[in-house]
Amino acid sequence: MSDIISKPYVWTIAEKQVIKDNFGNHNDWPKGIFNNLKEKLIDYLRIQQKNKCCYCKYDLGFDIKQVDIEHIVPKSRHERFTFEPLNLALSCPGCNTKKSVKPVLNTITVKYSKNSNNYKIVHAHFDNYSDHINIVNGCVFTANSAKGSETITYCELFRLSTVEEKIKATKGLETSTLESLVIDLKNASNEKKEELVKLLTNAIR
Ligand SMILES: [Zn+2]
Repeated sequence: MSDIISKPYVWTIAEKQVIKDNFGNHNDWPKGIFNNLKEKLIDYLRIQQKNKCCYCKYDLGFDIKQVDIEHIVPKSRHERFTFEPLNLALSCPGCNTKKSVKPVLNTITVKYSKNSNNYKIVHAHFDNYSDHINIVNGCVFTANSAKGSETITYCELFRLSTVEEKIKATKGLETSTLESLVIDLKNASNEKKEELVKLLTNAIR
């Protein structure tokens, strides 16, 4: 099944006017006046991307700090693409931060290039992710192509195996807490038992 964004967002006439009236250069991107249209864009792309980050494919969170509008071609390098729908995708803040402003174009063009070969990394609108990257055990990223390899390097996707290990370690901690509570319960006096049962009930809830 294809995981390409099948259609870019289309700005409404009113949204285009807001952009026209308020966008001078890429530093204007954080302006509050754009919040409404960004929210619409996020809602739209969440569905298109099945709520996954375009680079690591981890689930995107729903709080404001858990999802970024990613400029595939960095807006600071090519600010004419700041509001270009084909240049926008959702990523997790981790991938966005790691990718930063690294150059992604092979050839600089005036109009937004629709040629997949013109991009050094996996492009959410033009490339099938699985053609370029395999995810093993949910956290080990291996490249199937030069693009895949560049994407792994640009976004430092190898960082996620550490994240996964930390998640497992935290889960392990919960299990050992539970085990020690069970042992305590076995050895507890009658009056202590009631208290421990409460703790155990809470722990497994
Ligand atoms: Zn990510």
